[in-house]
Amino acid sequence: MSAKWEVVIGLETHAQLSTVSKIFSGASTAFGAAPNTQASAVDIALPGVLPVLNRGAVERAIRFGLAVNGTISARSVFARKNYFYPDLPKGYQISQYEIPVVVGGRVAIVSPTRGEIEVQLTRAHLEEDAGKSLHERETELSHGMSGIDLNRAGTPLLEIVTEPVLTSADEAVAYAKALHGLVRWIGICDGNMQEGSFRCDANVSVKRPGEALGTRCEIKNLNSFRFMHEAIEFEVRRQIELIEDGGRVVQETRLYDPDKRETRSMRSKEDAQDYRYFPDPDLPPLTIAESWIARVKAELPELPVAMKARFELAYGLPAQDATAITTSRELAEYFTAVVVALSAEHDAPAAKIAANWVIGEVSAALHKSDADLAHAPVSPFRLAALLKRIADGTVSGKAARDIFDEMWHAPDVEVALTGQSASASQGLVDAIIEKKGLRQISDEGAIGAIVDVVIAENPAIVAEVRA
Ligand code: ADP
Ligand code: MG
Repeated sequence: MSAKWEVVIGLETHAQLSTVSKIFSGASTAFGAAPNTQASAVDIALPGVLPVLNRGAVERAIRFGLAVNGTISARSVFARKNYFYPDLPKGYQISQYEIPVVVGGRVAIVSPTRGEIEVQLTRAHLEEDAGKSLHERETELSHGMSGIDLNRAGTPLLEIVTEPVLTSADEAVAYAKALHGLVRWIGICDGNMQEGSFRCDANVSVKRPGEALGTRCEIKNLNSFRFMHEAIEFEVRRQIELIEDGGRVVQETRLYDPDKRETRSMRSKEDAQDYRYFPDPDLPPLTIAESWIARVKAELPELPVAMKARFELAYGLPAQDATAITTSRELAEYFTAVVVALSAEHDAPAAKIAANWVIGEVSAALHKSDADLAHAPVSPFRLAALLKRIADGTVSGKAARDIFDEMWHAPDVEVALTGQSASASQGLVDAIIEKKGLRQISDEGAIGAIVDVVIAENPAIVAEVRA
């Protein structure tokens, strides 16, 4: 992309709140049930029913607002957003419009181009999800019909909106990952992107330096970080080419097609007035008492930003590493457990090595195996036992990676998980070192003798090297 264009991106993220029941009814939010078995009369607004707000959803919104340092509105209002769509038979979605539950806030990220920055949020508001259209493939046996599953109707969502402040696809992904980590960290959303629990819309525009914001297109429902990256890159290129060819960008909603790797127009973008928003007459304004906010605040765990700063300060970790370790609470807890097992709380170099292993080998192995950290075959004690043997010179870093793999893929995982004490772990590591003959020889005399033998046995190669 030529330097004379600037990219402007704002993200809207729908995070499904992890409540057991829906936002305005007692129906279950569990994923994967038979179609239309979890849509109550309230979720589809049959005549005569009244919505009742789920306290758990509000509490999660408060938790989010506090975690991003936003303002929790003492009084916010639910509004009807009216539109016609097959998956919304009641004809409106209950959302928040003029007064959202959370105003402002910031999410800290490490931008690949701008370093450590804070992404300004506009707002976060509560709303209900709609149903889902399912399309049958056309075969000899089916006519390719479409059906509507209303199980998802009424599922609580927190829509989190950023200001138009992100400047590249990389930065948008960094933000989305940080947000994804945060909502899981504070336990308000399971973050399952395949199941649609965390999905983003990317608003993208381009402009020349010094110009006002350009016209944006909104790419809907990006449910993977890779697709988000591809979609934004494609869209930026499309808009620049369009303008450079003398055309102009039309404000519209687009969809990303991962197979063709392109965005396609879906519909022209509605303006707010098209939705005829008005306060929902069935729901009183939501009032949140100071005491409620104070209680939620007191219950918040240490947040990733604070933990990251602590790790940087205590162990001299670079921002990138500290960010990587604090992507999830599980990973941060694992790292902390390794540091404690090594008694490295006051030994920055040892903690730094532990960090390298957690970010490197442990994360890679986890990624490949789909295992979760709580059941990782290499427990914190085991990793600590291994790192001790690197530190005392028993094994080389390369041998240590072999031992790590051996433990990770050990067939005796069950046994391994029961014998996880510090001493059992050290015993296992030492046994593997002996079994595989990985003990490092640092006695110069012994190494010299081996070198002599190798040289004597390979005269041809020796001659070649000499020549
Ligand atoms: P709507 O609710 O209709 O989608 P908003 O005005 O609330 O529209 O904006 C939605 C998102 O679009 C926000 O994240 C905002 O930052 C972003 N946005 C607004 N204008 C632009 C623009 N010109 N370029 C890129 N993003 C934009
Ligand atoms: Mg929008």
